[in-house]
Amino acid sequence: PVQISIQNVGKIYGDPNAESAVVALDGVTLGVRRGEFISLLGPSGCGKSTLLGIVAGFQPASSGQVLQDGRPITRPGPTRTVVFQDYALFGWMTIQANIEFGLKAKGLSKRERGEVARSLIDTVRLTGFEDKYPHEVSGGMKQRAAIARALAPDPDILLMDEPFGALDAQTRVLLQEEIARISSEAGKTVLFVTHGIEEAVFLADRVVVMSPRPGRVREEVAVPLPRP
Ligand code: ADP
Ligand code: ADP
Repeated sequence: PVQISIQNVGKIYGDPNAESAVVALDGVTLGVRRGEFISLLGPSGCGKSTLLGIVAGFQPASSGQVLQDGRPITRPGPTRTVVFQDYALFGWMTIQANIEFGLKAKGLSKRERGEVARSLIDTVRLTGFEDKYPHEVSGGMKQRAAIARALAPDPDILLMDEPFGALDAQTRVLLQEEIARISSEAGKTVLFVTHGIEEAVFLADRVVVMSPRPGRVREEVAVPLPRP
């Protein structure tokens, strides 16, 4: 069954009648099945972040629509969480507090929040670092914390925008293996934006290749190899 249905989505930045208008997306149609891991691959500027932002509910499409389980996505919500390249952790909160923040909407007691956060810290292998502040840990560890925070509301859909783009090559490979493990264990639907073809193919069940100017789906490639 299709969980996310992206239907003929277009996006124009600026006044559509003005010379300066940017057509970022031009008729993108894509169905994402529950539990599927999709890599959205394409060069910088082809509209990947724009599409991810529309699916997240951060910004509206200019035309077309996106449905989640049959209902239009109109605003951000806890069933879809986002991991950004720059981590976007709260610098004044410890790792643990950052992750607990992701649990705010769940109506748990403080003790329950602590328990769930500790289990997520374990999942992303940050045990021992819960009381550190983001500036006290490495980039890889910051991104592990951001992934745990995104998993905290137990979303149906994890949206990742070049999440490993700021990491060194060695850390990137480690985190790629981790996200493959975590997403399949947790059974999440993942939309993963990248301009790295190796990363796209390594992670995905299906690679959606976009072409720029204006952004369109060029082809969809099923990845035949089993995931690690
Ligand atoms: P990608 O994620 O593939 O690099 P983006 O979705 O960021 O692509 O950008 C697609 C196009 O839209 C680019 O030409 C970019 O310059 C333009 N764009 C993105 N965001 C804005 C914005 N807020 N205002 C105007 N143009 C934008
Ligand atoms: P990763 O985040 O994938 O584990 P990193 O390159 O970020 O890889 O870090 C490598 C290792 O160095 C970490 O697993 C951790 O054990 C150690 N480390 C990194 N930053 C710190 C820190 N601020 N304090 C203590 N140990 C650290």
